[in-house]
Amino acid sequence: MESTIYQSDIFKMACTQFDLAANLLEMDPRLRERVKVPKRCMTVACPIELDSGEVVLFEGFRVQHHLSMGPTKGGLRFHPQVNLGEVAALAMWMSWKCALVGLPYGGAKGGIAVDPHSLSVNELEHLSRRYMQEMIPFVGPNTDVMAPDMGTNEQVMAWMMDTYSNHVGNTVPAIVTGKPLGLGGSEGRKEATGNGVAYLAKSYLQDLKIPLSQATAVIQGFGNVGAEAALALEQYGVEIIGISDVSGGFFNSKGINLKSALTHVGKHRSLAGWRGGDRVSNEELLLISCDVLIPAALERVIDEKNAGKIQCRILAEAANGPTTNAADVILAQRDDVLIVPDIFCNSGGVIVSYFEWVQDLQSTFWTREEVLRRLHAILDNTKAQVETQKSKLNCTRREAALSLGIHRVAEAKRLRGLFP
Ligand code: GLU
Repeated sequence: MESTIYQSDIFKMACTQFDLAANLLEMDPRLRERVKVPKRCMTVACPIELDSGEVVLFEGFRVQHHLSMGPTKGGLRFHPQVNLGEVAALAMWMSWKCALVGLPYGGAKGGIAVDPHSLSVNELEHLSRRYMQEMIPFVGPNTDVMAPDMGTNEQVMAWMMDTYSNHVGNTVPAIVTGKPLGLGGSEGRKEATGNGVAYLAKSYLQDLKIPLSQATAVIQGFGNVGAEAALALEQYGVEIIGISDVSGGFFNSKGINLKSALTHVGKHRSLAGWRGGDRVSNEELLLISCDVLIPAALERVIDEKNAGKIQCRILAEAANGPTTNAADVILAQRDDVLIVPDIFCNSGGVIVSYFEWVQDLQSTFWTREEVLRRLHAILDNTKAQVETQKSKLNCTRREAALSLGIHRVAEAKRLRGLFP
């Protein structure tokens, strides 16, 4: 079946990845379409009144990829480029990610085509609440659970939780994850994605026998995930020599002063105007020679043009879909770059979201140590499974991770049967 609704290059990229993995798995043709095509999607019109009195309408999306293993789970993205095809691809990746790390969820993703920085706090609150209001018939703690993604944060999740709770008449913390601690959020959730990325980078550096104290890292994207990954790597003794955001990048062979960069971003919202290194473009930043390169922003930044030129030992994909399929082919031939694929590398976020959901449902809360101990145990265990699968199927690490996740979803569908 050729989808008519999710037309976009990113959706095609996700479908090609699925097809490669399904072929490796020799998946029953009777299951393929059922496992691949998103179950349902919602597009909602979100009108809000701006502070100026003008009424503007934003388009919001949510794709729930499959509902065969539990509620759907995934972030909510506020970004001008958001569209249904992109959200569908991101929802598919969430499905494989959750299944890979053993969470009882299907994948989902949502978004609004908006630049959140162009709105006042008031306007952002109205838009967030309006989006949740429109989605109420389709979400719930046992149906679909949202979380932060690019352009959203704890405050947006708090408004979402409040809007839903007001609707049902009682407080429902488990409706979203990534909430503030005071509203049933989890210790460790804010830093979970970056922490997981750094933990896996460390683990693979050790496998490659590169001493942490001599290792360098470059991070593209200095939002929550990129910044937390940088901080965690620094804790491990790795030197961060390059960072960037939409305003451009910085290279400093003596090490980036993360504290100073974070203070600047806290004050000015971006790295623009910061003076902590030599200025480089985002394209140049990706080509800096380093041990760990971490794309932590948008999709498809490693493509056929730069895949042959990147100079890292480990490509740790903190972003979703940062490497195109064409780039994957080039990197597979190069053999000198170890890819920690997105659905594994950035899974720390949804793993701790799952912990948050469990804690909310049980009204009992864990310490940060407990959260991180459990997170790292899941990552270690998944890493062992991915490495075994890679040897077993004689395939790339991405194919190994995808095939593990996809196989679990296919098995769930097969076991449940086709109804009626
Ligand atoms: N947005 C994050 C992701 O892409 C986290 C999703 C979640 O915690 O549900 O994995």
